[in-house]
Amino acid sequence: MPVTTTNTPEKIPLTSIDVSPPEIEPQYKELYEGHRVYVRKTEGRFQRLRRYIAAPLLLAFFLFPWLQIDGRQAVFFDLTEQKFYIFWSVFWPQDGILLASLLIIAAFGLFAVTVWAGRVWCGFACPQTIWTTMFMWVENFVEGDRNRRIRLDAAPWSLHKLKLKASKHFLWALIASATGITFIAYFYGTLPLLSDIASLTISVESALWLLLFIVLTYLNAGYMREQVCKHMCPYSRFQSVMYDQSTLMVSYDEQRGEPRGPRKLRSNYKKEGLGSCIDCDWCVQVCPADIDIRNGWQAECINCGLCIDACDNVMERMGYQKGLIRFASAQVLGGFWQRFKQPRMLGYSICLVLMASLFGTNLGGREALSIDVIRDRGVHLYRERNGQIENVYTVKLNNMSNEPMEVSLDVDSSEPFQLTGRRHHYLEAGEVFTVPLRITIAADGLEKSNYQLAISAVHSEDEQGRVLQTVAFIAPNPVASNL
Ligand code: SF4
Ligand code: SF4
Repeated sequence: MPVTTTNTPEKIPLTSIDVSPPEIEPQYKELYEGHRVYVRKTEGRFQRLRRYIAAPLLLAFFLFPWLQIDGRQAVFFDLTEQKFYIFWSVFWPQDGILLASLLIIAAFGLFAVTVWAGRVWCGFACPQTIWTTMFMWVENFVEGDRNRRIRLDAAPWSLHKLKLKASKHFLWALIASATGITFIAYFYGTLPLLSDIASLTISVESALWLLLFIVLTYLNAGYMREQVCKHMCPYSRFQSVMYDQSTLMVSYDEQRGEPRGPRKLRSNYKKEGLGSCIDCDWCVQVCPADIDIRNGWQAECINCGLCIDACDNVMERMGYQKGLIRFASAQVLGGFWQRFKQPRMLGYSICLVLMASLFGTNLGGREALSIDVIRDRGVHLYRERNGQIENVYTVKLNNMSNEPMEVSLDVDSSEPFQLTGRRHHYLEAGEVFTVPLRITIAADGLEKSNYQLAISAVHSEDEQGRVLQTVAFIAPNPVASNL
């Protein structure tokens, strides 16, 4: 059963080295003994890794809407035209299966990562975590580290406090606005959006969407933070069922750490009957999820590794071996590859590879041209003139490539069907072209009243880009006609 705690008061170990900052005055303690989480800043390898992962992701998010390819926005989800531009590729509604495959691959990727190392996605790459970390960095920069912030919040209002709070909220609002504008720019177009905002001609609907994203970013990263991970994120609810005995989780080595307690530096703590944990609470104070990992694995833990960094720093200063808190699984592992021998991990990995290969094949073999043929549903099923039976169709050609193309239409059938009218058409890049098509057959050659034939469209000489659709051809009943 998971156990959670709120951030607890400062504890000062009886040691001559400074592993804990000056104690908070008693009058401020009720602030952090309540529900507010004051996260302490920490440094270490996992904090660095989080930065190395977050920096390129943030850069990509803010930069992509500004990139241009062939005179258009490089990454643009055009909902009005129902086209998704992703760098050099254009995806149409017909490519929905590719999008669905991509989502399934992402889901399997997430499952595989979760089986391997728990909620590392949450701790290192989730947008909620990255934006919360950014907002916390601003908070720390403006108001100072944990103890300063606790004191500031408890202090009566003054010009100094007002200045700090206003600066923090101004910077938060700036980041939230940049995030909202960037996000909407993926769907609206960057330059049109900025120009419409500047000229106040943006539509009410778009303005409301923009405002919604700005406000949600501000509230999620500024105020709700770990509450989103704990109570709102659906992924956090079901991921624990994916863990198995080999899943790597941030764990406290209870055997080595207990009994915990303060001690003098370089004292023989083992003789005093103590374990390695000096009960400094740093691991709790740096935790963005507001939990004490020493109480065992908890669903709220996002595997961010910050408590590992904090504890390693304490261990180093105490001259103890690092790793009192570390990534470990429930079973002793035989090595990295051993994890892939676990049936669940193996299953997810195989599915992931299969889905990714299928996606790659589908993406590579995607047709640049699509055809859609509809029989004209007029008053007459067919027309008879000059000894010929005629059916009329509407053909919709869609050039899904970035290049213009010449398209030729033809009829594929063993029967002597004739196509009348224009066969060759020129389509601009991305153009949807609709053309009426007449198909005839000699009335005296009829053998039945219903034929199946294929209308084909070819866009290259070697017939590589050939697409076709089968349609019905309706004729009078030959037996009745001969009577
Ligand atoms: S586990 Fe490490 S960081 Fe946490 S209280 Fe013990 S010594 Fe301090
Ligand atoms: S317990 Fe450690 S790994 Fe888990 S969320 Fe808190 S700081 Fe991150």
